[in-house]
Amino acid sequence: MLPSSVTILGVPVHPITFDGFLDAVAIFIAEGEPRQICTANPEFVMTAQRQPEFMAVLQNADLVLPDGVGLLWAARRMGRPLPQRVTGSDGIYLLAERAAREGWRLFFLGAAPGVAEQTARILADRYPGLLVAGTYAGSPRDADYPEIARRIIAARPDILLVAYGAPAQDLWIARHRADLRVPVSMGVGGAFDFVAGVQKRAPAWIIRLNLEWFWRLLTQPWRWRRQLDLPRFAWRVVRSGIRIQD
Ligand code: UDP
Repeated sequence: MLPSSVTILGVPVHPITFDGFLDAVAIFIAEGEPRQICTANPEFVMTAQRQPEFMAVLQNADLVLPDGVGLLWAARRMGRPLPQRVTGSDGIYLLAERAAREGWRLFFLGAAPGVAEQTARILADRYPGLLVAGTYAGSPRDADYPEIARRIIAARPDILLVAYGAPAQDLWIARHRADLRVPVSMGVGGAFDFVAGVQKRAPAWIIRLNLEWFWRLLTQPWRWRRQLDLPRFAWRVVRSGIRIQD
């Protein structure tokens, strides 16, 4: 059903569009098994090189979306181009729109106190009929898990969006998905912050120029250390002999 993945420095990434992503979500919900979706970028790939546990999570995820432009660049070099960036920050709107039509129940977990709630409110206003199963900040710490589990199990969502940042959110989902049994759990990074207006997303023209990573460096300069992974990624891809196919 899903196109076979492109492996970039050990991480499988699915060559999929936004429509393909939404169709995969529909199938996962129909099947009902607890599935995991990750929104990968070059920082994910480099973190996975250092943390075998995170690599295993990405390798065992049911769907890995190409969230970062660097992955499109690497895949093109391999002669296995990815059709487009499928970002959590745009995907959350499309998912909410489709959820409102299909009657999928969404649970918003993570971000700073109040942000998940605000995100749900904004999306429910924008997409009438959206069923918000629940919202909760919580934290990825083990001490918070029992309360989170209690809320999610009581709410019975079809989709659980988790905004604890990578890799914490993805490790958290992998650890708990069998127990929570939500059909779709997806790490969405800063997507709630963007919807709620806590963080400003890059202007469209910057995104079009493939410079969103640069915008984030300027607007969230504390990320500079993480973003050193971008040149490291490029270097590893070039060195690993992934070449442009003629
Ligand atoms: N966050 C959280 N709890 C934590 C760590 C992070 O709720 O213990 C939230 C944070 O408030 C933000 C999101 O996780 O909403 C991380 O956003 P970021 O843009 O850093 O995502 P990344 O780029 O790491 O995927």
